[in-house]
Amino acid sequence: MSDEPKPEWNYRPSADLAGDAGSRPEPNVILEKIQQDMGECTRCVLHEGRSKIVFGSGPADAKVVFVGEGPGADEDAQGFPFVGRAGQLLTQMINNTATGEGIPIQRDDVYICNVVKCRPPGNRAPEPDEMGTCGQFLERQLDAIRPRAICVLGGTAAKYLLDTREGITKIRGAWKEWHGIPVMPTFHPSFLLRAYNKEGKRQAWEDLKKVLHYAYD
Ligand code: SF4
Repeated sequence: MSDEPKPEWNYRPSADLAGDAGSRPEPNVILEKIQQDMGECTRCVLHEGRSKIVFGSGPADAKVVFVGEGPGADEDAQGFPFVGRAGQLLTQMINNTATGEGIPIQRDDVYICNVVKCRPPGNRAPEPDEMGTCGQFLERQLDAIRPRAICVLGGTAAKYLLDTREGITKIRGAWKEWHGIPVMPTFHPSFLLRAYNKEGKRQAWEDLKKVLHYAYD
């Protein structure tokens, strides 16, 4: 386990997310409302090529939320995030790290979603304006769940969530924050699937250990 200092958890909702103090519904009710508000969304151009909106999956009271950039072909077909090859690697990473570190959770115990909910054509990265439009839903999801930690996967999602221009290689492995919630940036599993990425895999596993220990110790 890492002996690095742990970041503070001190959630600060933004003014537009703060709502009416004292009347906050249960997280699952809030998530349902967000999904209703999203409806058959056509707010950005990505709706044109999608089969299914990929809202997110996992328990509404999850202690960790993983955030990728957007759905791929398998996710678009099934309507669930991280179900293709990259998703299988993410599952392995979560399950094996948790088991190896003695943390009693598996993938089903965390919440997983993306910045944009519709598949960008040809698996390109979502554009800043698409993330700007769809990101309102991600931010409402994070506000509903209020996890102890967020793990952001890959440079595109990190740039949006952390409002940074720095690349993932530079920022991975060190805690940042989103509204007072600690955020660990790490590599996207699809990047780790490339054969030459042994060192990247080792680093991502280290990052994941920090996240799981922070959230569950
Ligand atoms: S990506 Fe988001 S904002 Fe764009 S159409 Fe899909 S749900 Fe709507």
